[in-house]
Amino acid sequence: MSCDHKLITEHASDYVEGRLPDYLKKQCDEVLQHCQYCQQSVAGIYQITRLAEGWNDQQVPEWSRVAHAVRPPVRYVSWPNWAAMACSLLAVLLVVFRFEVRLDDGLTISFGGNQQQEQLQTLLAQELQSFAAQQNETLDERLEEYMEFQDLNNQVVLNDWLELNRQEREADLNFLLTGWQSQRLQDSRRVNQQLDILTENQIDNNTYLNQLIRNVGLNERGNL
Ligand SMILES: [Zn+2]
Repeated sequence: MSCDHKLITEHASDYVEGRLPDYLKKQCDEVLQHCQYCQQSVAGIYQITRLAEGWNDQQVPEWSRVAHAVRPPVRYVSWPNWAAMACSLLAVLLVVFRFEVRLDDGLTISFGGNQQQEQLQTLLAQELQSFAAQQNETLDERLEEYMEFQDLNNQVVLNDWLELNRQEREADLNFLLTGWQSQRLQDSRRVNQQLDILTENQIDNNTYLNQLIRNVGLNERGNL
């Protein structure tokens, strides 16, 4: 049999104090026989009632309401407060006088920030220098690369030009050679022609001489 605990929740205190009508008390008794939760609720109320029965009213003593309502000024002085204040003062003094502690292993504790600024400036200068050096190196490398590239380019252009020049010179030489050869041919032809003319003249001369000799011979014979 399930229980929704409603009956006991509503009537537990009346049940404990015995103020329930009989029919309700009977219902509650039935529920309490099998529901553990309701049993615990009723047991709790029994306990509270028992405690309440032990409560005795006490006479309230005379007291000043204002004195307890307003918080009294704190009068106590404790040494942790003084220590805290002393530490704060010391810290302020350390900052004001820019106190510094340098240890052998390079650790520096500085108050006031002056040393930190110097360090920062030094670091910044170093960083800038290294950056500039890096930039220079990069520039040098670039320039070198560019010059190598330019050299290569120049070489290629020079080679092209030399090749072209060689071809042109070859063509020129060929042209010159051809001209010279044709000139030689013409010359030899002219020489041959002259030789022919000379030979013909020689033949003519010979014929003329023969005729002269013959005429002279005829004349001598006629004189005899
Ligand atoms: Zn119940």
